[in-house]
Parts: sequence; structure tokens; C-alpha cells
Amino acid sequence: MSDRWLLRGAEVITCDPGQADLPRGDILVEDGVIAAMGPELRAGDCRVLDLRGKLVMPGLIDAHRHTWQTPLRALGADWTVMDYLAAVRVKLAPAFRPEDLHAANLAGALEALDAGITTLVDYSHCMGSPEHADAALSALEDARIRALFAYGYAAGPRECPALPTHASRLQEARRLRTTRLASDGGLVRLGIALTEMQIPWEQSRAELLSARELGVPITAHCSAWPVSGPSEVQRMAAEGLLGPDLLFVHCTWSSDEDLARIAGSGGSLTVTPETELQMGMGFPITGRALRAGVRTTLGCDVVSSNSGDLFTAMRLALQVERGRTNERVGLPKALELKAARVLQMVTLDAAEALGLGRVTGSLRPGKDADLLVLAADALNLTPLNRPRDAVVLQSHAGNVESVMVRGRWVKLRGALVDVDVASVRRRVVEARDAVLARVGGPSALLEEQGALATHWDMGTGAGG
Ligand SMILES: [Zn+2]
Repeated sequence: MSDRWLLRGAEVITCDPGQADLPRGDILVEDGVIAAMGPELRAGDCRVLDLRGKLVMPGLIDAHRHTWQTPLRALGADWTVMDYLAAVRVKLAPAFRPEDLHAANLAGALEALDAGITTLVDYSHCMGSPEHADAALSALEDARIRALFAYGYAAGPRECPALPTHASRLQEARRLRTTRLASDGGLVRLGIALTEMQIPWEQSRAELLSARELGVPITAHCSAWPVSGPSEVQRMAAEGLLGPDLLFVHCTWSSDEDLARIAGSGGSLTVTPETELQMGMGFPITGRALRAGVRTTLGCDVVSSNSGDLFTAMRLALQVERGRTNERVGLPKALELKAARVLQMVTLDAAEALGLGRVTGSLRPGKDADLLVLAADALNLTPLNRPRDAVVLQSHAGNVESVMVRGRWVKLRGALVDVDVASVRRRVVEARDAVLARVGGPSALLEEQGALATHWDMGTGAGG
């Protein structure tokens, strides 16, 4: 496919503070980069895509997803967080083999691209061996998605001969940093996903310091239920370990003081409204986080329970926050959280949270061409009034017609490009069958709930 594309005549939402939206604009893409934007561009020799009646906007950024759980789709539709931990983290994770992880991550990354997500934070905490890491990483590369491959330090509940010690898991991330992910210039970059704080604090500290030596972004589940003792953020703050490279996830039980600490350190936060609301992790803190000045992003978290559709996450985050505020104030004079603010959370704010603010997250000349084409002529978007707001409140993943990552079409006119979808489907179904067979079938998934207390401190009365 040509390296020069002219996208002609679309309604353009830039999500960039320095670049006005264009009611009818052109975008010229050269060598993966946005070369020019404006009405009626003259571009010379290039391929032209007529997008009259369509909407172009930055690709969405899912800041938190355990992509490896794709074969477990909807198994946890009625699970609490305790059910989820017992079934997925204790029972199912150790049953994944490298080939299952490859099938899972490939299908999950393609599902994300298909739904307009051009950048994924893959919180990959199913690392049973070096081969698991290599397979998961290869699948992201094969899907041609932009991703932070957040290597999970978390050990499983059983002995792991390939990575028998905490030190060996730290070393495994070092191996990736010095070999396949030595460069930060590729579409897939290395990140680190910390183990939950239910390990000794000395190990958490070692994980943080080791990740910092690697010079990569760090993400961590945080305060999803009340724990006994000081919070993760309190401990990190006390030792000067907070920083702008940290992306905290959930924080539903974080105090206002902890949110202020995160904001003050330049760190970021990801709300995953569907899982938080379902599983009993407390209430999504979108409004509190924004008021505290924390850079706030959204994630789909797990398709083992809920949808992998970031449009749904946007809508849910917005309306749940409004509902909570309205319940408190009665009939509101005005709605505090605006729809367009939520769009910023899944575009530019998320890019900045990943240290990619200069590369992606908005449309302006000089940035990589990570974008999606939305069917603004679909009935559910017609007539197109207030385009940014319509994206948040009216559109869905089925409206995504085309998707470009770094100037390359990964989806075009409704179909993934150069993807054997039947093969991807077959492989992820085979992975589902193999993993479930190894654990004794779906009826056995919750049978180790009693063992949870040995793995996680669930505090005093929360956690569902
Ligand atoms: Zn998670």
C-alpha cells in the first residue's frame, strides 16, 4: 500500500488543543506521519480515500487490558472480584501455555483494533516462562497494534519451575529490555506491571526500583479494595517512589490525600468502569480524580467479564459519574462533567500518561497517523450534531469503518487488512478449549475460592 494517503473531506475531530476541528477537512499522511491537515489540500501523487460523510478522529487508547484473557470471554459475567481472583488468577492463569497466550493476545489485539483502539496497555500478568512472554509479545507485534507490553512481575499461585524466584522474574523483564524491546521506537514498547501489594513491601520496592532501572512506564493495580495498613500510594510517597512514569489502575478506595499525591507526582490513573461497577471494587472515581488534578484515563480491563469496547467505557464512566453527582445535589443546575472531557481521557490524556504525547493521542501535523474513520452517516449518528459529544454518547464500535496505525491501514472499509479472521477465531477457540480442559471444565472454576486468603489481603469487609 502506498506510503502517501490523502483522506478527503471528513468531519475531523483533532482532540488537540492547538488544532481546531475541521467540519470538512483533508489529512495528508506521509511515511506514517500526519504531513498536513486542512480544507482542500493539494497533495500531488498519492492515494485518495473519499471520506465525505465520515468522521475522522484519533485512534482510541485503552490504558488497561489483560489481553491474555480473551479466550475466557464472558465466563465471568456474574463474578465478583473474589470469584474473578479465584477463577482467573488462581485457577486459569497457570493453565495457559505459550501458544494459548499467542492466540489470546492476537485475537484480543485485533478485537481492539477492529473497535478503533490503536494503542493498548497490555497488562500481561500470565507470565509462566520466558516463552510465555515471547509469545504474548509476538502476538501484539503480529497484530500491528501500538502497545505497551506491560510485563507482569506477579507470580502465580503454584510453583513455577521456569521462573522459580522473584529475582528470576525481575531478570526476565531485564532480558526483554536488553533484547527484543531494547528500543522505544517500535510500535510495541516495554512497560512493567507490578505485583499487587499483597506481597511483602520489600518485594514491591524491588519491583519499582528494577522497573526504573529499565527506564520504562510502570502500571499497577491500586486500592481496588481497602487493605489493612498503609495504601500503596502512601508507602510509595513515604519513600519518594512516586513519579510521572506511574499509571495506577482503579484507585476506587484511594483517599483524596492519595489522589493529591498522585497528581503532585505527575502520575496518572486508569478507571475501568465496567469491572469496578460489576465486581464490587467500589465506585469509579472519575470525578474525584479529575477534581484532584490527576491525569485520568479509561480501560476495558477484562473481556472475561465485560466488553472490550472503549465507547462503552466512555459512556459508562460519564453517565455513572453524572448519576452519582445528581443523586447528591438533586436537580442539577448544570452537569459538571462534560462529554468531550471523557473523549480527552481516551485520546490525548492517555497518550501523555504513557509518555507518548508527542507521538499519538491527537491529530496534528508531525504526529504519527494513528486514527479511525467513523461512519458518521450511520443512522445512529445522523444528523451529526456536536461531533465530539456524539462520539461519546451516540457511537459504538460497530461504527468504526477504518483504522490506521502509524500510517498503515489495519482496518479498511469495514474489514481487517491482511488478517485471516477465520484462523484467528479458530485458534482462540482452541485456546479456550485447551485451557478449560486443563482446569477440569467451567464447573471447576470457583472451587479454590477458599484458598484466596493465602494469596490476597482482602481487607476488612470489602471485596464482594
Ligand atoms: Zn486489571
